[in-house]
Amino acid sequence: MNQWDVVIVGAGAAGLFCAGVAGQCGLKVLVIDHSDKIAEKIRISGGGRCNFTNRLLDASAPQKHFISQNPHFCRSALSRYSPQDFIDLVQKHGIAFHEKHKGQLFCDHSAEDIIRMLLAECQAGGVEIRTGCSVKSVQAPTEDNTHYTLGTSDGPVQTTTLVVATGGLSIPKIGASDWGYRIASQFGLRLVERRPGLVPLTFDGVGWAPYAQLAGLALPVGIETGEKKGRMHFDEDLLFTHRGLSGPGVLQISSYWQEGTPIRLNLAPEVNLPERLQEAKLRSKKLLANELATLVPSRLAEAWVGQNPALQRPCPDVPDKALTQLAEALSRWSLTPTGSEGYKKAEVTLGGVDTRDVSSQTMESKQPGLYFIGEVIDVTGWLGGYNFQWAWASAHACAQALAEKLLA
Ligand SMILES: Cc1cc2nc3c(=O)[nH]c(=O)nc-3n(C[C@H](O)[C@H](O)[C@H](O)COP(=O)(O)OP(=O)(O)OC[C@H]3O[C@@H](n4cnc5c(N)ncnc54)[C@H](O)[C@@H]3O)c2cc1C
Repeated sequence: MNQWDVVIVGAGAAGLFCAGVAGQCGLKVLVIDHSDKIAEKIRISGGGRCNFTNRLLDASAPQKHFISQNPHFCRSALSRYSPQDFIDLVQKHGIAFHEKHKGQLFCDHSAEDIIRMLLAECQAGGVEIRTGCSVKSVQAPTEDNTHYTLGTSDGPVQTTTLVVATGGLSIPKIGASDWGYRIASQFGLRLVERRPGLVPLTFDGVGWAPYAQLAGLALPVGIETGEKKGRMHFDEDLLFTHRGLSGPGVLQISSYWQEGTPIRLNLAPEVNLPERLQEAKLRSKKLLANELATLVPSRLAEAWVGQNPALQRPCPDVPDKALTQLAEALSRWSLTPTGSEGYKKAEVTLGGVDTRDVSSQTMESKQPGLYFIGEVIDVTGWLGGYNFQWAWASAHACAQALAEKLLA
C-alpha cells in the first residue's frame, strides 16, 4: 500500500504549486491527475502566454477583484503570498515576462515556462506525479485507520491528508470535472451554486441579426450591469461575435451579470456624442454615416445608421430628435443577453465549495485532514491574472499549514 503525508488530487496551477512547496518542506507528496496531460489550463491561459499574476492586486480589499459569497475569505492567503512573491519565483527561474496593461503580467515566450517552473519546484521537493489516474473512492479515517484511503485506477493509496485541487467546470474537454464538489458533498460540506464566469454573452438569433454583420469588430467601450450598489462598470475592449459579445469587457461583466437583466454599453466612451453630432450637423454637408465614422468604427456607424432611414441623409437634413436618439443609443445601448457560451468557453466557474466550511488560514475544511485550494472554492477573480494568484496563494497557505501540522 502506498503511504503518503499528502495526496493532492489535481495537477493544475494550485495542485502543482502546493505540491512543490509542501515537498520542499519535507513532506512526502503524491499528486494524482486523471488527465494524461497536466496543467492544461496554464498551457492555454493568456493566449498561450499565461497572465500569471497582477501587480494591482490589493489584498487588503479583496472585494475589488474577487467574487465570493464572502469576499474577505481570500484576504489572509492573498496577503501572506503576494504577487511579488510569485514574481520572485518566476525571476529565480529566469523566466522573461512583461506587463501588458492594468498590472497584468505575461510570459514573454510561453505559458510552458510556468509549467516547467512548477514541475522543477515539484522535483526539488521529491514530489511524485501520477497522470492518467482516476480516484474512484475516498474513505475517511476510522478508529482503526488514521489515514484517508483512496481507491484509484492504479490501486489503493493511503494518506494522512487529502488536498482537493480539481479546479472548476470550464473547458471539460481538457479535464475539468465536478469531482471536487462531489467530495465536498460526500463529507457534508456546503456548496455555493456554480455558474460559468468570464464567458462570452449570447443573444437570440433574430434580435441579434442586425449586429451579426459586426462579427470580428473590436473597440474600447464602457460596459456595466446591475443597479445602484450592485452596479459594476468596466472600461475595456469589446468584441462582436456571430452569436453575441465577447472581449475583456464582456468577460469581466459576465461574472456579475444576472440572467434576465440588461447590460449597458457606451460604444464611444471617449467622445461627447450629442455635442459632436450637433456640431457635425452645423458644419458638414456629408452623409451622417460618414461623419459618425470619424467618431466610432465605420462598420458600427453603418450598422446603426442602417437601422433608421431618418439617419440616412446628409448631416443638415437629419432631424434633431433622430440625432439625439442616435447619440443615446450608442452611448447607453441597453441589451439583455439570452445566455452565455457556457462552460465550453468560460474561463472560470463562479461558486464552489462554501467558504463557511473552509479555514481561510489553512484551507482545511470542516472535515479534518481534507483541504481545498484554487478554483474549486467559492473564490473567483477578475480577468487579468487574479485567478492564478488565488491558485498560488491558497496553495501556499495550504502547504504551510500541512508542514506545520505534519512536521510539528
Ligand atoms: C482559456 C482560459 C484562459 C485562462 N487564462 C487565465 C490567465 O491568463 N490568468 C489567470 O489568472 N487565469 C486564467 N484562467 C483561469 C485559470 O486557468 C484557473 O483559474 C486556474 O487554472 C485554476 O487553478 P486550479 O489549480 O484550481 O485548477 P486547474 O488549473 O483547472 O487544475 C485542475 C486540475 O485538476 C484535474 N482534475 C479535474 N478533475 C479531476 C479528477 N476527477 N481526478 C483527477 N484530476 C482531476 C484537471 O485535469 C486539472 O489538471 C484561464 C482559464 C481558461 C479556461
